[in-house]
Amino acid sequence: MGDLTVFRGAGKMGFLWGVIVLQECFDIVLRGARIVDGTGNPSFPGDVGIRDGRIALVGHVPQGDRDLDVSGMLLCPGFVDIHNHADHGILAFPDAESHVMQGVTTSVVGNCGLSMAPINPRRTELARRYLAPFLRSEVEYGWDWKTSAEFFQKIKNNGTAMNLAPLVGHGTIRIAVMGFDDGVPSVEEMGLMKEMLAQSLEEGAFGLSSGLIYPPGSYARAEELVELAGVMKDHGGFYASHMRNEGDRLIESLEETLALGERCGIPVQVSHLKAVGRANWGKVNEALRLMESARQRGIDVNCDVYPYQAGMTTLTALLPPAALEGGVERMLARLSDSAERGRIEAQVEKGIPGWENWVKSLGWEKIVISECEARKDVEGRSLEEISCMWECSPCQALFDLLLETRGIATMLLFGIGEEDLRAAVKNPMSCIASDSWVNAPRGGGKPHPRGYGTFPRFLKRFVRENGDLSWEEGIRKITAMPAAKAGIEERGCVKEGFWADLVVIDPEKIADRATFQDPHRYPEGLSHVLVNGEFVVKEGRPTGHRPGKILKRR
Ligand SMILES: [Zn+2]
Repeated sequence: MGDLTVFRGAGKMGFLWGVIVLQECFDIVLRGARIVDGTGNPSFPGDVGIRDGRIALVGHVPQGDRDLDVSGMLLCPGFVDIHNHADHGILAFPDAESHVMQGVTTSVVGNCGLSMAPINPRRTELARRYLAPFLRSEVEYGWDWKTSAEFFQKIKNNGTAMNLAPLVGHGTIRIAVMGFDDGVPSVEEMGLMKEMLAQSLEEGAFGLSSGLIYPPGSYARAEELVELAGVMKDHGGFYASHMRNEGDRLIESLEETLALGERCGIPVQVSHLKAVGRANWGKVNEALRLMESARQRGIDVNCDVYPYQAGMTTLTALLPPAALEGGVERMLARLSDSAERGRIEAQVEKGIPGWENWVKSLGWEKIVISECEARKDVEGRSLEEISCMWECSPCQALFDLLLETRGIATMLLFGIGEEDLRAAVKNPMSCIASDSWVNAPRGGGKPHPRGYGTFPRFLKRFVRENGDLSWEEGIRKITAMPAAKAGIEERGCVKEGFWADLVVIDPEKIADRATFQDPHRYPEGLSHVLVNGEFVVKEGRPTGHRPGKILKRR
C-alpha cells in the first residue's frame, strides 16, 4: 500500500484531507476491478491510481472525478510478448493496432536472428534482401542506421504505441561480418561479431536471438553460437533460439540449445516450441521432459508457444540452405538456371539429412501463401492449388512464384498437433507469445491470425473454456513471467511503483476473432489498454497515442 496509509492513522479530519489530496494526486483511477496482478497470487478486488505514468496506488481510492468504472472486469498487467517481429513493421504501423488491441504493452523484438540492426554499410543490400519478406512497402526505411541504438532512435522519432525491448539477431550480425558466406568464421570475423553483439548489449539490448533455419544463420556451427553467446556471460542478457530443426530432429536441436545454455551459463529461451509434421507429433512432451531435467541441472531454460496449429514464415525457407548461399539475388539466379533448378528440385523432393524440409513433412497442400504483394491472387491458396491453376508441378510453381516476387512472399504451414500444443501451453515452463508482425486492417493480405488474436485466444481457450490454467496462472504466463525472463524491470505486475502498463478485460467475453480466412479482425472483450499511464485503447478502440518507450536492459 502506498500514500493512503500515510493518512490512515491521522484521525477523521486527517483522513478527509487525505482524500482530497489523493484525488488531486492521480491522473487516472481505475475503479472497482478484480485485480490479477501477474505474479500468480490470488486475485483481489481493488482500485488502481495512476500518476506520472506509474502505478501510484493499489487498493482503495476514494471516489472522485478521475475515476473510470471498471467493475466486473479483470485488471491485469499489460501483456509482454516475448517473441515477435514488431521491429520490422513498427515504422509503418507506429500505433501498433494489431498488438495493442490484443493487450500487448511490451514487445520483445529482433527474434529468430532477424533483427534490423546492426548493419554494416558495405552489406546493407544483403541485409535488406534478407529481411525483405517481412518488411512493409508503405514505408521508406532509408537504411541509414548502423547500430541498434541508431535504428531504435529512428523508431523513437516516429513514435510507438507500445514499448519495445530489442534483441540482436545472430543472422543480422553474421551478414554484417561475413555476408552470406557458408563458412566457419575466421578468428578475426569471430572477434568482429562479438564486438558488434557487445556494443548492442551495452546500448541496452536484452540478448541474442538466433534463427537456425534461415541462411546465413543456418550456416553457423554450434561452436560459433557458443562463442558468440558467451559474450553475455559478462554483459548479461538471454539467448532466444529458433532452433535448427523443429521436426525430425527437434530433440537433437533442443540438446544443442541446452548445451549452449549450460556452457555459457546464460538464460535460454526456446522460441515457439512445437513439433512440425504428423510423424513428429508427441515429441513436444519429450522436449518438455528434457527441459525439465535441464532445469534440475541448473540451466535457466524456458520456452514460448503460440496458441495455433500453424506457423508462418518467409517462402524462401522451403529451399535447401545451399540455394541461398551468397544471398537472395544469387538464389534467384540459381532458380533461373535450368540445371541448378533441377538440382534444387531434387533436394526439395528427396530431402537432405538434417535439413528441415516442410514439403516432405507436411505436403504441398498444407503450405499456404499468406502475404504476396506482387501476386495478390495467390494469397490464401496452397502451393498445391497454385500448381493446379498454373498447370505445373508444385515445386515448379514454388520456383516461379519466388522468381516473380523476387523472393518476397510469406507462407502459412499447417503442421502442429493439438495435443502437443496443449501440452506446451499448459507446462509451467512456457510463456505465450505471438511470433507475429505488427499490423492493422489497412495492412491487407492474409497474415497469420496470431497477429491479432494470440492473447485473447489463449485466455478464451485455455483459461475460460478448457480450464487448463487458472486466470492467475494464465495471466502470469503473459506478464510477470516473460518480463522476468527477458530482464524487463518494473513491468509485468500490478504493483505500486511499476510503470502503468495495464489491461482491462471482460473474463466472460475475451475472445479472438481473427481467422486464417479473415485475419484482420480485432478481438473482443478487451476494453482498455494503458502504456506508461496513457490510453492506447479506450472503450475498445485504438486511441492513436504513442506513449511507448524503447526499453534498455539495466
Ligand atoms: Zn522463428
